[in-house]
Amino acid sequence: MTTFKDLNLTKPLLNALSDIGFEKPTPIQEKAFPVIMSGRDAVGIAQTGTGKTFSYLLPILRQLTYSEQRAPRVLIVVPTRELVVQVVNEIEKLSKYMRVRCLGVYGASNINVQKQQVYDGLDILVATPGRLIDLTLSRTLQFTGIQKLVIDEVDEMLNLGFRSQLTKILDILPEKRQNLMFSATLNEDVELMIENHFKKPEYIELISRGTPLEKIIQQGYSVPNFYTKANLLEFLLQHEKDFTKVLLFVKNKKIADEIYKELEAGFAEDIGVIHSNKSQPQRFSAVKQFDEGTHRMLIATDVIARGLDLKDVTHVINFDMPVKDPNAYIHRIGRTGRADKTGIAISFITKANQPMQKEIEALMHKKIQMLDLPEAVEVSENLTQDEKPVKRDKSLKKIPKLVTPTGAFHEKKDKNKKVNIGGKRRQASLQRIADKRNREKSSNK
Ligand code: AMP
Repeated sequence: MTTFKDLNLTKPLLNALSDIGFEKPTPIQEKAFPVIMSGRDAVGIAQTGTGKTFSYLLPILRQLTYSEQRAPRVLIVVPTRELVVQVVNEIEKLSKYMRVRCLGVYGASNINVQKQQVYDGLDILVATPGRLIDLTLSRTLQFTGIQKLVIDEVDEMLNLGFRSQLTKILDILPEKRQNLMFSATLNEDVELMIENHFKKPEYIELISRGTPLEKIIQQGYSVPNFYTKANLLEFLLQHEKDFTKVLLFVKNKKIADEIYKELEAGFAEDIGVIHSNKSQPQRFSAVKQFDEGTHRMLIATDVIARGLDLKDVTHVINFDMPVKDPNAYIHRIGRTGRADKTGIAISFITKANQPMQKEIEALMHKKIQMLDLPEAVEVSENLTQDEKPVKRDKSLKKIPKLVTPTGAFHEKKDKNKKVNIGGKRRQASLQRIADKRNREKSSNK
């Protein structure tokens, strides 16, 4: 069994780990440590829950020497404000016995305070892409000292439309640096970014993509519509006493608010809601109250819940199934059954979701166990405005083409909606990736 001592960590780090109560490195920590220590570029394919944050923080802190230099030496870019706070907390815990100046910056907070903090000097900067660009534009932040760059949850950042900001950041960083990237999935977009900016990265892959954690019991109910789902949810909350920490995923902020309204009468004290329309204090407070157990359930959209380290979630409920990407299901259910615990994932599946259910099951090589709807749950005939069939006016000769709602929780800005068939550079890069794969395939034959 590998211990933290085998990783040749320093006393201050070992003491901090012992204070936190961690006994041995997780597999990703064990695998990533020597690669990152070697100074090579690295790409870690790992989901949250695997200990991936410490897998990069441990070697980074192991190599960080004391300095009074003002410009930061380590830059960590993450997709959401909550993640900034989470990573900063982890750094503070691990560097308890070291002198490390760390700062987290994100949008919608006072930039002037952050400018002053940057000016005062720091070693590690944790940031969301937008605020990072704002700080560099104001010339307060100098990238000249950056030796190590970590891009965490890169697939999510690209999903959120941060491609151009990320590319801008990568372009202005000093040429000589170590690049580390962590992603739950490796798709073409992510590979393109690696191809364009990384130097011969080492891949640290933990579990084959699409494999759900074995410790999660997966169940599903067939439900026809929103109001039946709400009835079922209410029933479960009322009758299942072991549903003590429930993370409820919905497809958009409107539905999140609607469910809250539906349950408010009986459960207002027990439920928190988090989505991108909530103010930052509300978002932090919702996570805190859920994490500390004040709230029994947190209603969340994917965008916000991604990457949050929520402890001891007993149940993940997919009130709405993911609509586009079957991998989203795997990310969601991975929020329960973490560490040594068993978790339960429950999906509310409509007829329209059945093709997605099949895709998910094919990806996991595992079936979701379908349960009978409890008899006490009323099957509602009522439909929400969005569920009602669209009436066509027969008097109109030509019916304008309807834009099918995509169910995206995060509408893209118009400029990002364009279908990008790719510029010359993108095409050339894709071709290079394809050529490389073909070469590898033929040399393996
Ligand atoms: P992450 O994948 O980075 O979001 O980490 C998931 C959870 O595992 C966090 O609560 C960490 O604090 C915890 N964790 C990280 N490393 C270890 C370890 N070596 N032993 C036990 N728990 C860990």
